[in-house]
Amino acid sequence: MAKTYYDQDANWELMNGKTIAIIGYGSQGHAHALNLKDSGANVIVGLYEGSKSKKVAEEHGLKVYTVAEAVKQADITTVLIPDEKQADVYKTEIAPNLKPGSALVFAHGFNIHYQQIVPPADVDVFMVAPKGPGHLVRRTYTEGSGVPVVFAVHQDASGKCFDLALAYAKGLGALRAGALQTTFRDETEEDLFGEQAVLMGGVCQLMQTGFEVLVEAGYPPEMAYFECFHEMKLIVDLCYEGGFTKMRQSCSDTAEYGDYMVGPRIITEDTKKEMKKVLKEIQDGTFARNWLLENKAAGRVNFLMERRLHAEHPIEKVGKELRAMMPWLKDGADLSKD
Ligand code: NAD
Ligand code: MG
Ligand code: MG
Ligand code: MG
Ligand code: MG
Repeated sequence: MAKTYYDQDANWELMNGKTIAIIGYGSQGHAHALNLKDSGANVIVGLYEGSKSKKVAEEHGLKVYTVAEAVKQADITTVLIPDEKQADVYKTEIAPNLKPGSALVFAHGFNIHYQQIVPPADVDVFMVAPKGPGHLVRRTYTEGSGVPVVFAVHQDASGKCFDLALAYAKGLGALRAGALQTTFRDETEEDLFGEQAVLMGGVCQLMQTGFEVLVEAGYPPEMAYFECFHEMKLIVDLCYEGGFTKMRQSCSDTAEYGDYMVGPRIITEDTKKEMKKVLKEIQDGTFARNWLLENKAAGRVNFLMERRLHAEHPIEKVGKELRAMMPWLKDGADLSKD
């Protein structure tokens, strides 16, 4: 079993007198900034001129600077801008202003692991990667709980990098739920695999395909939505609370029998083979290369087209109408991107 760290393992005093610059104020940025500030840290925010996030951060009582100005003041700089933009911003605005002896922090290992960012030897480099979306990192903190994290030390210049990473995780509220130590490599590969094969790519495609099969067979889209989309959350909540066992206990034996008989016909040996291929393409850098090229050479043309086509799918249209009748689903968080 991997060792898990909790609140009593961390020394928050290490943050005394330190200024933390959060670069980017999106999903993770706002959560890191507000949680660390509420934990008592001195937090500032770095954004580019014209970022929509600037107004939001200021409304939350934070001082906003340009990235360069924020980094100059910082003892700890956390890079929470989109992965595909980090290397350019690092080169032009972060690296020239990074204080020797300060710390550079990431929430995902991508740019360090694929060597798009190579920090100087005189800074600490660590990662604190929440295992959940930023808006939940914030919400759970305010509710007194937390989202677990994995953390890793890439470069220990001060001799205290490990303790600093744990203190940072404590300030995020993550040690209420637990922190697991990992490496930048393992976190990067596992995180990319999870989102591609299971959490997003796998699950979204499964929900959408199930919906299409029912609608193409003539069932009302509203029913198909409730069955293949809405109910997913209810089922996953039961798994989350008590494993597959609790979920199956809560469903009928008919459902449970169908689950055992049909599951392996949907996710087949071929699917598993394909998952292994996906993992290999992450490990050998093929996916990273394609994503960086898509951004740099192709101007995100495939990415933006896929985003638009998916947004136009009938499951999104019917879902929007049905959810409008369920006002309790609104949590007020604006998830729009800059
Ligand atoms: P995001 O897209 O939600 O937010 C990006 C922020 O960066 C915005 O505030 C934007 O204004 C700002 N920004 C963009 N370009 C900038 C620039 N040139 N200079 C300064 N600021 C700029 O990003 P995110 O999803 O929070 O991802 C941030 C990091 O966290 C990534 O490394 C990601 O892999 C990691 N992460 C994200 C999640 C998540 O919940 N979204 C979970 C775990 C890890
Ligand atoms: Mg993830
Ligand atoms: Mg990810
Ligand atoms: Mg049912
Ligand atoms: Mg049962």
